[in-house]
Amino acid sequence: MLPCCHYVRGMSRWVLATGLLCLFFIFSLSCHRPMKVVAVDPQFRDRPRLAVLVIFDQLRGDYLERWESLFGEDGFHRLQHDGAWFQNCHYPYAHTVTGCGHASVLTGCSPATHGIVGNEWYDRAAGEVVNCVVSERYQRVPPTPAAAKKTTAKEDSLGEKRTKGHGAPDRLLAPTLGDALKAATGGRSRIVSLSFKDRSAILPAGRQPDACYWSAEGGKFVTSTYYRERLHPWVEKFNAGKPADRWRDMTWDKLRPDLDYERYSGPDDVAGEGKGAMQGRTFPHPMGSLLYYQALYNSPFGNELLLDLVKKAIDAEHLGHGPVPDLLCVSFSCNDPIGHIWGPDSQEVLDVTLRSDLIVKELMAHLDARVGKDRYILALTADHGVCPLPEVSRAKGKDAGRVSPSVLRREAEAFLDETFSKGEKTRWIENSSEPWFYLRRDVLQGRGLKQSDVEEALAGWLKKQPGIQTAYTRTQLLGELPADDALGQSVRLSFHPDRCGDVAIILKPYYLFTSALLATSHSSSHSYDTHVPLLVHGPGVQKGIRKDPVTPQATAAILAQALGIKPPARSEAPVPDGLFNEPAK
Ligand SMILES: [Zn+2]
Repeated sequence: MLPCCHYVRGMSRWVLATGLLCLFFIFSLSCHRPMKVVAVDPQFRDRPRLAVLVIFDQLRGDYLERWESLFGEDGFHRLQHDGAWFQNCHYPYAHTVTGCGHASVLTGCSPATHGIVGNEWYDRAAGEVVNCVVSERYQRVPPTPAAAKKTTAKEDSLGEKRTKGHGAPDRLLAPTLGDALKAATGGRSRIVSLSFKDRSAILPAGRQPDACYWSAEGGKFVTSTYYRERLHPWVEKFNAGKPADRWRDMTWDKLRPDLDYERYSGPDDVAGEGKGAMQGRTFPHPMGSLLYYQALYNSPFGNELLLDLVKKAIDAEHLGHGPVPDLLCVSFSCNDPIGHIWGPDSQEVLDVTLRSDLIVKELMAHLDARVGKDRYILALTADHGVCPLPEVSRAKGKDAGRVSPSVLRREAEAFLDETFSKGEKTRWIENSSEPWFYLRRDVLQGRGLKQSDVEEALAGWLKKQPGIQTAYTRTQLLGELPADDALGQSVRLSFHPDRCGDVAIILKPYYLFTSALLATSHSSSHSYDTHVPLLVHGPGVQKGIRKDPVTPQATAAILAQALGIKPPARSEAPVPDGLFNEPAK
């Protein structure tokens, strides 16, 4: 005992205190998981930790100016006032639809190069119409429940027939920013892409996203076996909570009942408007239960559902907290069906745009909190605009109308009979996926006809038909086009020789192809379809309104420069001059 007591007494008080402190420290470490701090790769030390692409489907370029006074301070205004706002941003190609837009923004090129020439197109070799992102090689994850298989076609409110297989970027022929980022970081970047629509998640993401999800029947988010065999646990948990059912049997009312919507958009009840999924022409719109998931897609609530998933993804995937920058692509789809059903001058489109302002505000607040202010760069754009309802245009004294694709095809066949087979009935047109007529090459060969002659005759006839501005032939598009033929140049940017047809029909401004389901649409080279916003916000971005002409495809180079990597290999649109405070490295 004595030596021990002697020893204790002999220790100075500070040694004892230090020992106790050490013990406490060791105990603390064993009780708390130490915070994982990832060292930033020196190559990316001064770069944003996360690049964010936000697409609003069918957010036309003029909306942000038209309704600027109605937005709050932290949504669109934050981008408009603290970022670069390109007001003169147009797609350079003619066929402005969702697949083409979503493929173009982060490849930095046009359909002629990336190969996504439409949402669907006719595949001559297969003898069928193919969807831009549906591949027979892959299946849905999780598999489609047997009970849902029968109703899948009904669930698609845009009336697209779902073919066999499931989503994959097989038909995309150019790399995206995501692919360039994976290459630059040895695969270490995290890439997440989310949307309601399959093509809008799949095409911006490129070939190797870590998570790519879109909505399927029942409001559940799904992926395909191209990406992985099982859902991420955070998606599984999200789906299990049935968050899509939140608005069942509710109504879609105006966000701002205090506001005179008619003053800022137009009357609520207009000739030509649709009714959606039993939603009616005027506010309030019932969400119902029979066609509820269609109504969800045709309402702003689908965007809110996606935003919830986006927040979960940011947290679960620790976006912006790795050693190298990450990429998040989000495409909010619901603005598009709302515009298709009620038209761009409707109170419904005003309302969804006001609600989109809140989506931007909430998304940026979440990014500020989880990634950090000034630690991410965000670009916001749209995939196309939209044409006013022909009825609304006519009321304003414009020449406007609808062209029936089936009548046009029938009459074109009759013209070809008259011209090339002395009136003998022949089937000349193999397929007519708008805006293309695909001629039957076997028939032309069998009759000893030169294809270019038939194309030219058909184009000449088309040019004389009501509602048609002009037509271009395959032979023209493969040859020399006059440099001052701006329209022809834009059609050529939409033309991929292996995927497009033989004669392209260009409708007059304010004319549409008739559709049983859609009151209005987009897909032309007219400015209401090509004009979209482009806003860039983040560290080093020179803020201000820009009037110089740009294309949305510049987004690929802009985000690449911000991250300090090479733009995707086929990108064509450069970074606009003076966008970044620092000179390009
Ligand atoms: Zn779209």
